[in-house]
Amino acid sequence: MSQKYLLFAALAALIGNSPIVSAHELGAHVHGVATLQIAVDEKNMTLYFSSPLDNLLGFEHLPRDAKQKSAVKNMADNLNKAEQLFIPTAEAQCTLQSVKLDSLVLDQKKDSQHREESGGHADLDGEFVFACKQTGKLHDLEVKLFDTFPNLHQMKVEVATLKKQASAKLTPDQRRASW
Ligand SMILES: [Zn+2]
Repeated sequence: MSQKYLLFAALAALIGNSPIVSAHELGAHVHGVATLQIAVDEKNMTLYFSSPLDNLLGFEHLPRDAKQKSAVKNMADNLNKAEQLFIPTAEAQCTLQSVKLDSLVLDQKKDSQHREESGGHADLDGEFVFACKQTGKLHDLEVKLFDTFPNLHQMKVEVATLKKQASAKLTPDQRRASW
């Protein structure tokens, strides 16, 4: 299990449920499908997002021309405005604290290693941390990625809070995960 999913796994273990599926199992590379893990602890809601680049860019290699470079920049700009893409329960009073994005299109040093490992496919991973004044009132999340990224058709969601776990499958017609 990768480092970044440890918080999610720790929360799941804390509430005594069966072992959570690993990020890898949850996030098999299927075009059109992305995954989102929502971890809620006493103060924060942390979102772990993983998507094939094809959903976000329409290609999965380093940008080769000005148009593709601008597509990469637009994608990063959109994801950095995560407070417009992920809308938590208003009463929880959450505010975006940090965004981390990880992908070969954002870090060219990863490219040569990646080519040998993945058969030409590539993902984007994102970590979004929201601080919430009232995490007890946090019970849903609306996801607005489908408008921004029309190649994205489905999002598999797993939720772990201090009290429970839940899962959901979001689509352009069902954009809200509840728990
Ligand atoms: Zn792919």
